Amino acid sequence: MLEKHLICISCPIGCELSAGRESDDSTWKITGNRCPRGEAYALAELTDPRRVVTAVVRSNSPVQPLLPVRTDQPLPKRFIDRLLNHLYTLTVKTPVKCGDVLIDNVENSGVRVIFSCDCEK
Ligand code: SF4
Repeated sequence: MLEKHLICISCPIGCELSAGRESDDSTWKITGNRCPRGEAYALAELTDPRRVVTAVVRSNSPVQPLLPVRTDQPLPKRFIDRLLNHLYTLTVKTPVKCGDVLIDNVENSGVRVIFSCDCEK
């Protein structure tokens, strides 16, 4: 029997979840959740964990030499290190607008990296 313990972060209650499955069965049984969102959260964490990524990139702006960027939706965790390493190599040209796309379709995931602020120059 495999067992894992997680805390649901889908709302402030923070239910303590237990996930268990037989070693020859891929189906997780989730307990401890007060609502269905907890089960959905646990199953996503166990099978395809994702996070919204925030970072800064260098720019050629003398006013804002570092510009905040983020993914427009959660990115599979296995891609995050490679994305951050790539972002830290970039120097972007201004101007940019909040919501402009810096990177489209990260690792063919359908996730985009967008600017989180305006920078005129
Ligand atoms: S299981 Fe439901 S009630 Fe519990 S923390 Fe998650 S969202 Fe909130």
